Amino acid sequence: MSRSPKLDPWGTPPWKISFTPTRHSLPDAVDFAVIGGGFTGLAAAAWLRLLAPEKSVALLEAARIGAGASGRTGGMVLAETAAGDQPGLGNVLTGFQSILEKLKVRCDLKLNGAWEIARKQSSSKAKPQQSPIAWNDSGTLRVVNEVPGGALDPGKLVTGLARAAQHLGAHIFENHRVQHIYWNGRPELHLAAARGPAQKVTEQRITAAKIFFATNALSLPEAGLTGMHPRLTLAVLTRPVSEKVLAAIGLAERKPFYTVDFPYLWGRVRPDRSIVWGAGLVQSPDADDLEKVDISAEESAAAFDRLEDRIRHLHPALEKIKFSRRWGGPILFRDSWKPVFDWHPESIASGATRKRGESNDGDAPRNAIVLGAYAGHGVALSSYLGSWAAEVLLERRKLPHWSALGS
Ligand SMILES: Cc1cc2nc3c(=O)[nH]c(=O)nc-3n(C[C@H](O)[C@H](O)[C@H](O)COP(=O)(O)OP(=O)(O)OC[C@H]3O[C@@H](n4cnc5c(N)ncnc54)[C@H](O)[C@@H]3O)c2cc1C
Repeated sequence: MSRSPKLDPWGTPPWKISFTPTRHSLPDAVDFAVIGGGFTGLAAAAWLRLLAPEKSVALLEAARIGAGASGRTGGMVLAETAAGDQPGLGNVLTGFQSILEKLKVRCDLKLNGAWEIARKQSSSKAKPQQSPIAWNDSGTLRVVNEVPGGALDPGKLVTGLARAAQHLGAHIFENHRVQHIYWNGRPELHLAAARGPAQKVTEQRITAAKIFFATNALSLPEAGLTGMHPRLTLAVLTRPVSEKVLAAIGLAERKPFYTVDFPYLWGRVRPDRSIVWGAGLVQSPDADDLEKVDISAEESAAAFDRLEDRIRHLHPALEKIKFSRRWGGPILFRDSWKPVFDWHPESIASGATRKRGESNDGDAPRNAIVLGAYAGHGVALSSYLGSWAAEVLLERRKLPHWSALGS
């Protein structure tokens, strides 16, 4: 994704997305409409076509693929959910690796573990004197636990999933924003599509037998998400540092890290020895529409200044560190910290027509699913649950019980 910083109010992340979809005209009707071109939507689109090559799949993305969290993430690969393990979740990391293998996605995945860091000792086995990290940040930050995980290149993951989806026969439409859905009978999606060199916006329509919402922290009303907390989370990149600096600050092993107490801080070393650090959440002026947030505006600029100042004071070796980028990206969480993976509230049993006020049988397959709200814990989980969602849409698997909209 090479949008210029001036055109991108959320700043430009360091990851490179090398994918341009093949041009197609929008069909009148498809079997599956996938809304959102991040990890979740791309993985689901690819998986649908892998399992059911005879079904038509259109992926509708409001901007460019990876324009949301997936092209802006830190790229730490974490197991479980932000609320920990869940009944029947299975092994996220093993499942994620297997999906990448089946879809032939290469994204520099390295599962060398991740560090939980904190000001206080936890019940973990790591003793304070064994911690490679001792940073000054509202107390002394040390490694308190090592958990399964690692890191990857998010640009390569977006690229790889998009190539796999397209290669398997899904049609990807960038600059196609779903504005409204008419839910009577077979759902009809109304789109604002920007086309041609002048990016003229026209309204288009498509009907779909089934719909998959993978819009994360945006388009909450359309996705049927209420009572959620959408935020822009901030990240900065240092210039590449020497191996000596990495050793001095305890990051020579290149393990990604995140705090398990507050104030929050996370980060990871990139292959060129630049370091991504993240902390800080910015709310939209009207609470829900993150697309209105501009990171150069006062509140975000001050939050970036504070974050960079904090990093410079973590360790003497970081005192003169230079920063090369600032950017933000959308995250969505709810009070339980569990992802949402449920039927869309407007969905109806497949093939049925609904009379006003009629409800669905909870377990019967329906025609629309919503998946997201990974709460900053979605790099591996999004592909893992995205492929699970594809299997539910194909009526080969059931939804989990821990992820209902109201839970
Ligand atoms: C700065 C940052 C750092 C992070 N770091 C980590 C990390 O290190 N580890 C980790 O596990 N997780 C991390 N996360 C979270 C992780 O990146 C996300 O959970 C994951 O990328 C979500 O993917 P997604 O496909 O569900 O959503 P997104 O990537 O946000 O995709 C949603 C897409 O939907 C599109 N869209 C929205 N509305 C419409 C519409 N109406 N019509 C059509 N398209 C629409 C958007 O343009 C967007 O492309 C981080 C997130 C951020 C922002």
